[in-house]
Amino acid sequence: MKKLVLFTVLVVALLVAIALLANQAQKKDVALDSHPSTEGQPLLGDKDAPVSVVEFGDFKCPACKAWGERIYPQLKEDFIDTGKANLSYVNVLFHGEESTLAALAAESVFKNDPDSYWEFQKALFDEQPEQDHDAAWITVDKLVEVAGNTTDVDPEQLRKEIEGKAFKKQLEEDNALVEEFKIESTPTVIINGVKLDDPYDYERIKSLIEDGQD
Ligand code: CA
Repeated sequence: MKKLVLFTVLVVALLVAIALLANQAQKKDVALDSHPSTEGQPLLGDKDAPVSVVEFGDFKCPACKAWGERIYPQLKEDFIDTGKANLSYVNVLFHGEESTLAALAAESVFKNDPDSYWEFQKALFDEQPEQDHDAAWITVDKLVEVAGNTTDVDPEQLRKEIEGKAFKKQLEEDNALVEEFKIESTPTVIINGVKLDDPYDYERIKSLIEDGQD
């Protein structure tokens, strides 16, 4: 009898422990009080889609390149091209001068040739070295070259706008979002007000987007 009681107690304790662990795993995503405003940000897909996915990214960050290669194509095919979600990108400048140069160029492309923005964005991430990503690779010449291959932006105008920090204000607006939403690492992905613990968890992304369809 004593053995049976002990066994029951152990089983119950084990079940409680499993339930707590499962709960914790779920809890790592953060439900925010609000969703970042996408006004004035590049937006891919239907602007009236029921779900907004916002990526906070940095052109100098290898994990962002990886997100673009591993998650973005599937996300685009399953949810953006089908009108279920749209995607916005907010610049984060955690890697200093090179991050800033790339973000200035991206804002300039977005302003002058918005239809080419995403192609430029992807092409720029493609230029990020696979191995030694700490090595300097973002230069004004490189940005002008990538824009020349992917956009109709006038190269001399782009050069001037990067060097003259013409879109400094847009970077400040992006930074205000970084602070407001306490972005500490890149990429950070927020889906309808839920900040993902693991931006590479495609099943989680999928379920959040599906939950957001009315
Ligand atoms: Ca921006």
